[in-house]
Amino acid sequence: MELEILGAHNCESRDTKLTSLLVDQTIAIDAGGLTSSLSFPAQQQIKAILITHHHFDHIRDLATFGMNTYMVGPTNIYALDSVLGVISTHLLNEVLYPDFRNKPFPDKPSLKFCPLEPNNEVLIEGYAVLPLPVNHNVPTIGYQVTSPDKKSLFYTGDTGRNSSSLWQAVSPGLLITEVTMPNRFEFVAQASGHLTPRLLKEELLDFRRIRGYLPRVVTVHMSPQLEGEIGDEVAQVAKELGATITLGYEGMRIAI
Ligand SMILES: [Zn+2]
Ligand SMILES: [Zn+2]
Repeated sequence: MELEILGAHNCESRDTKLTSLLVDQTIAIDAGGLTSSLSFPAQQQIKAILITHHHFDHIRDLATFGMNTYMVGPTNIYALDSVLGVISTHLLNEVLYPDFRNKPFPDKPSLKFCPLEPNNEVLIEGYAVLPLPVNHNVPTIGYQVTSPDKKSLFYTGDTGRNSSSLWQAVSPGLLITEVTMPNRFEFVAQASGHLTPRLLKEELLDFRRIRGYLPRVVTVHMSPQLEGEIGDEVAQVAKELGATITLGYEGMRIAI
């Protein structure tokens, strides 16, 4: 299984894109920097898009993706029912942009919405996908994705500290999680459901206590303006835990 990080940040510029991942060129997870990162042929290879939650920086490119694949769909969009509802009413609502669930043809639309139940594993394009609730300030699910040859990753989406029951449910070879801001903003992070390096350390201590190991960790959703500080603090956490923790970046490819 190969993971490509398309977007690794929470703010967009020429050099930073909003959070979006791509598994084996087939399954995208979150659609912040999806279309701006891929050629049209690469976009057409995507068979499914998994969405963690309805915040704009994670759903935005569903609009452009729907337009770009207008005649080649449908592509299946997986998310909580409530998240699909927000996308319908606020983004693809025939006011801001077309409802691609019915266009260009009702029987051959650009996008197809597929609601997921939390904690209920489903098979998507041959991959076992387990959606698990995480602790953000709106309903959010992380995804464990396991390939047919049993390689797995877990992506938390946006999250603050979680109860240890989350780590009882997953055993990934690669953990992708967020670190949005440095330690001095911990009060902001806790109020908005995000992690700092110190909170990540607490999460990883829970993970290791419950699972007995630490996977390789890659961070995303960094604030670009604070990335140097985040990087220094993450490196310190990695040293203290004896763990491999890398800041993700646009175009990063990881073999799992
Ligand atoms: Zn969010
Ligand atoms: Zn976000």
